[in-house]
Amino acid sequence: MSNSVQQPNIWILIEALALIGEEAIRSRDGLETGGILLGTDDGQEVVIRHAGGPGPKARLESNRFLRDLNHAQQLAELAWKEDQSQWIGEWHTHPSGDLTPSNYDLEAYARHLHDPELSFKRFLTIIVVLTPTGEITAAAWVVDQETALPVPVAVADDHVGHPRKSIAER
Ligand SMILES: [Zn+2]
Repeated sequence: MSNSVQQPNIWILIEALALIGEEAIRSRDGLETGGILLGTDDGQEVVIRHAGGPGPKARLESNRFLRDLNHAQQLAELAWKEDQSQWIGEWHTHPSGDLTPSNYDLEAYARHLHDPELSFKRFLTIIVVLTPTGEITAAAWVVDQETALPVPVAVADDHVGHPRKSIAER
């Protein structure tokens, strides 16, 4: 497979990762949960600085997840004020155990990518799975107009440059 676009280095701050972990535990009930990812993307380096939860009006179903848009917008405004973070993607759980984006997911991302108001060049998604023994696994994907490619994500303490361990690598 050839890919003319250089894949970015992707980092997640440990606080954002912790929120995803705490929230993902709730998908033990068999319903998907998730939220938006906020951060910075300078073309070469993507830093996930904040992760949101589903919000009070989200619809959690067994094979899809509809975020609470007002909640997402509020988080996006706060993150922008704090560190100029923008909406760069989303995360959600798959109770099915499948770490790849579903067709439903890919259709939703394609709509985001084609929405001129959102002006996404690419969309980052993290699929999270709880194993039967209660461990959390995850895979990150970069989705653009043509493909969805799995990408490694490194964990950073509070600034880029100090990797701790690699997650979401497959
Ligand atoms: Zn999904």
